[in-house]
Amino acid sequence: MTSATSSVCRLPLSLDWEDWYQLCCPPYDAPDAHEKFEDRLAIATDLALGLCDDLGAKATWFCLADQAARHPELLRRIVDQGHRIGLHGLDHARAFEFDRATFVRRTQDGKARIEDLGGAAASGFRAPEWSLRGAAEDYWRELPELGFTFDSSRAPLKVLGDPRWPTRPCRLSADLWELPPATMRLLAWRVPLWGWGLRTLPRPLLRSRLMALAKADAGTPLDLHPWELDEGQPPLPVATRGHRFAHCARLKGFGTRLRKVMRGIALVSLEEWIGDRP
Ligand SMILES: [Zn+2]
Repeated sequence: MTSATSSVCRLPLSLDWEDWYQLCCPPYDAPDAHEKFEDRLAIATDLALGLCDDLGAKATWFCLADQAARHPELLRRIVDQGHRIGLHGLDHARAFEFDRATFVRRTQDGKARIEDLGGAAASGFRAPEWSLRGAAEDYWRELPELGFTFDSSRAPLKVLGDPRWPTRPCRLSADLWELPPATMRLLAWRVPLWGWGLRTLPRPLLRSRLMALAKADAGTPLDLHPWELDEGQPPLPVATRGHRFAHCARLKGFGTRLRKVMRGIALVSLEEWIGDRP
């Protein structure tokens, strides 16, 4: 850590640009899911862009290429408002569902599509549902060759990743940064500072942890989904208790909560945070 970091109070901010029903399980992952469920991506994108404006944030938006093809005008608005785009996938299928060659082909295709539709370079990658795990644990090795300079897919948590993985940014190789999402210790557990963690943890606890990370210039990205700001979204028609909690708990008032807990923290893109590194 350099001496300059003592006055820094910032965190990288990321958004996973997907619609409210895009869980990685049936019926939401079916090929015809986009026809079955209400398309609310424009509403959610508006709300997320408004939140970023209010917070003075410039973020990295990890985008799905198939949604970019459906909504090229939204992708262009994200870029035009000064945000960076990265790739969340050709679609929302998890990386470990594909063999390595198929993953490479799909990732290459997805990157080309969002760069073409967005008119901007995509140098970061985040796999759907943190899925560079299991059979895909070392697929990150393919990313530099595909033109990516950083990944943000490795959650240092049970189930979604591995608690032994680094909790702070590091280089996975000479040409690839890893920025693991922000987490915190809570008693015997490590819990996410995104999703249900951001929505349900007591606000003073959340605020103190976020401020500590920001003042340390920890570089652990916060992660939001635009649909989390959409209080008008329909309830999930089918879901396990766990999915329902992770997806739906305390959506009401989340935008107001974020404006309070992130007050005074400079929110920057992942590219900007990495740009300062030696
Ligand atoms: Zn996702």
